[in-house]
Amino acid sequence: MNYSEDKNKAGEYLRLALGYLAKYNQPASPVNYTVWYEYVSGKNLKLKKIIDSSIESATPLTCQNMEILYQKFVADGDRIVISKLLTKINLMLREITGHVLETEGDLSGHGTTLRGLSEEIREVQDFEGAKQIVDQMVMETKALIKSGSKLQSRMKISSADLQQLYRELEKSQQEAHTDSLTGLINRRGLEKRFELERIRAKQNNLPFSIIMADIDYFKKVNDTYGHLVGDSLLRGISKILKKQLRRNDIAARYGGEEFLILLPETDLAGAGAVAGKIQKGLSTKEWKLKESGESMGSITVSMGISVYAMNELGETMIKRADDALYMAKNTGRNQIITQASLQD
Ligand code: GH3
Ligand code: MG
Ligand code: MG
Repeated sequence: MNYSEDKNKAGEYLRLALGYLAKYNQPASPVNYTVWYEYVSGKNLKLKKIIDSSIESATPLTCQNMEILYQKFVADGDRIVISKLLTKINLMLREITGHVLETEGDLSGHGTTLRGLSEEIREVQDFEGAKQIVDQMVMETKALIKSGSKLQSRMKISSADLQQLYRELEKSQQEAHTDSLTGLINRRGLEKRFELERIRAKQNNLPFSIIMADIDYFKKVNDTYGHLVGDSLLRGISKILKKQLRRNDIAARYGGEEFLILLPETDLAGAGAVAGKIQKGLSTKEWKLKESGESMGSITVSMGISVYAMNELGETMIKRADDALYMAKNTGRNQIITQASLQD
């Protein structure tokens, strides 16, 4: 994203984007607003094409769909953060290589390794790749400190800087994969964890399950009490979800008011039990407006559960949980349906 238009244009885009938000009855959340801004500025052609065809076919532009469009066509947060950090890594690598070249002695092997690293940097796509490079730089620096006495004091500085850089990378990665409203991991963060879990399940021949949970009648909460109350409810519900989970379970904010819970080493029955605890946790909570203390009644969620079938794609497993969730919604809400109830 690069929003450097002149003031007049930016003002016009703002008016147009707000117009679309009103037309499609969407809250002016940063995600919705940004998607429309991209749309009206006409710079994001792929996004424009999808929205145009949705409008043409009268496909509803729900908040969830907007979130999906945002993730797919707008948010390239990881890449922006990574490319900034890679610039830093590159500079440090050059500095270290410079120290080596200036120092006499048998350090040619290190020079080659360092040159190899600067080649590898060009291929780095994600945080893990960047961390691996910094890791290797740390090791290389340690070896250099040992091998060249003239390098010692200069390398100690680089070594401390590198460790700082590594921490920065970890922090940025964590921020990029965390949902700022609820503190849960976001969809991007979930993708990585999901892949890891699939690999683990294959290696150890163990089941794992997911729960898709969607808040019932959440639009009514926003319409009655306002979007900010809706937001604080999302935070409250996230806390209740987390409270019912074990250390290795993962709760993610999957979309606007939809959560995906990843349960390692858990079969359908186990996942059903967790869903039951969540349902119970929610039913005993009394939601009140902060200022007036007025009760908002109860908040419920509908849940759909699926278990991993060896070698299937992650999206196939998610689709089954989604279908079960859809069934839970269509047959009364505030209930848990597993894939066992789905017809093939
Ligand atoms: P259902 O029981 O069928 O799930 O009904 P619903 O009203 O929950 O479902 P629908 O998909 O119609 O509406 C979802 C609502 O969630 C609409 C949108 O305003 C709200 N929403 C999505 N993301 C956010 C958010 O970040 N904050 C707030 N306050 N509301 C959000
Ligand atoms: Mg929903
Ligand atoms: Mg809902």
